Amino acid sequence: MPELPEVETARRLIADLALGRRIVGVDDADTFVCRPYSPGELRAALTGRTLTAAHRRGKLMWCETSGLDGPGSDFGPILGIHLGMSGRIVVTAQDGWVAEGGDPPGRDAQPRKAEWDRFTLEFADGGRLALFDKRRLGRIVLNPDIDALGPDAAEITLAEFRAVMSRGTIAVKARLLDQSKLAGVGNLLADEILWQAKVPPGTPVNHLERTDIDRLYRALRKVLAAALATGGGAHTGDVIAARRPGGSCPRCGAEMVHGTVGGRSTWWCSREQGRLAGPR
Ligand SMILES: [Zn+2]
Repeated sequence: MPELPEVETARRLIADLALGRRIVGVDDADTFVCRPYSPGELRAALTGRTLTAAHRRGKLMWCETSGLDGPGSDFGPILGIHLGMSGRIVVTAQDGWVAEGGDPPGRDAQPRKAEWDRFTLEFADGGRLALFDKRRLGRIVLNPDIDALGPDAAEITLAEFRAVMSRGTIAVKARLLDQSKLAGVGNLLADEILWQAKVPPGTPVNHLERTDIDRLYRALRKVLAAALATGGGAHTGDVIAARRPGGSCPRCGAEMVHGTVGGRSTWWCSREQGRLAGPR
């Protein structure tokens, strides 16, 4: 599932390759990915415009659009793009060269079917931008509610993070995953951050010590920086390969154990993150 680093690769792709190209056609026929819009509504809203900027907060991307007379002529609606569980952005250049960003390729069965392009912008130069999404859980929305998201996980300050992680009795892992509190951390990143910080995933946030929270913050920064630098995403974390039956902790060698925390499949080190929940 695309988490912050994967979505950032898609955003960079759009920023590098799709801005300033005039939109002459829109395939918005997938009424599930484009809900609540009817076919033709997104086409009417976007045709004749260009994408002028690509932004991201957490796992949500959005593009600014130009007015109908091109860049600098007023502006159009905001195009929100959510990659869902397996979405990728595919941008085709004028000469047919194809570049992709988002969920890592290769995990979808090939050959690719045309209907897995759930939403497409066609450019005047003959190229296109498509949301490729086999599982159909991505989403296109105009003028998305960006303020419903918490601070971006790559930009949150230590002071903001301390505030987010110190109130309530919810498990620390569930809080890390709460997009309204902290935007961009998904299941793999959460397990990696908790393991790096040696914090039991079920610890109620109001039982975290200040030193735990600061260790979690440092782990968040480190894990995101590494994932963004390699472009490899959430799958490249140190503990990810050990998230399996029989897996052992890459740091201390103890058995990795599995449970459900915050409704999500969770793996942790039996020795260093031993207590699932409760006061410390
Ligand atoms: Zn360990």
